[in-house]
Amino acid sequence: MCEFCHKHGEGKKWYLYAENYSADLLSDLKRRKFIADFFSLTEQSPGLLTNIGTLRIMPAFVKSAIMRYRVGRWKESHYGQVLPIEDVERVFGLVSNVVRLPCYCRHINLGTEQRFCYAVSLAPQEGEMFKIIKEIDMDYLTGPDTSGLEELTKEEALENFRQYEKEGLCHTIWTFVTPFIGGICNCDRSDCGAMQATVTNGVPHMFRAEYVAEVNPELCNGCRQCMRVCQFGAIGYSAANKKVFIDPMRCYGCGICRASCTKDAINLHDRASVPVAANLW
Ligand code: SF4
Ligand code: SF4
Repeated sequence: MCEFCHKHGEGKKWYLYAENYSADLLSDLKRRKFIADFFSLTEQSPGLLTNIGTLRIMPAFVKSAIMRYRVGRWKESHYGQVLPIEDVERVFGLVSNVVRLPCYCRHINLGTEQRFCYAVSLAPQEGEMFKIIKEIDMDYLTGPDTSGLEELTKEEALENFRQYEKEGLCHTIWTFVTPFIGGICNCDRSDCGAMQATVTNGVPHMFRAEYVAEVNPELCNGCRQCMRVCQFGAIGYSAANKKVFIDPMRCYGCGICRASCTKDAINLHDRASVPVAANLW
């Protein structure tokens, strides 16, 4: 169990703890302001991950001090965790309201409107979360070519997530002033600020999933399709065995490799049951 499970989930998976989606948490004025500022896309927006790349060239002790500070702040405000599709399904079983909106990171990095982010809440349809987002002056939601917010049924949303899974996108869940959970995204390392901070620059902005993947060598035919889709560089190929293997120390437990395997050769295990990875977050 990750740190948030202990702090915000009473020892169970924190994102399956219904209180973390509650209207009570959402009624907090500071949190509402945070959400409004987050999507404002100004220089003060807490969503912008500026200057993370420069940490790589700093002396180790400076980098370590800045990292501790920034990661601590993110954990209090906006922090994520990788989720495999079965836990996305469980989350959709909990929430009552799903709104699709353009991806914030892709808007900043690519300048395009691509709809991969989903606001979730326990509020009724057209409820609080929808109103808060609607009231925010988001340039990328209000331009002439945008279609605004879309309320989806949970079934429609899940169907989209299953498609993203086939496309190799990694599902992640996010707090908006922890522990309130406000969104689930579908990330790609090439344009996701949080994945780049975490994986490319080594400054964690999200936890690994509560799972680790393993290959069944009896079923693997060595096609290497799973290697092509792993965004975390966790899969290697053994020329001697003509099969792949997964490094549990690098695996984030997203399950995207599993979705790509036509031989059903990949399974996810509870992270806690894999000693070398049990405390790697
Ligand atoms: S996709 Fe499946 S069969 Fe192909 S290499 Fe990976 S585990 Fe083996
Ligand atoms: S090995 Fe599979 S489960 Fe692990 S990070 Fe890579 S794609 Fe995700």
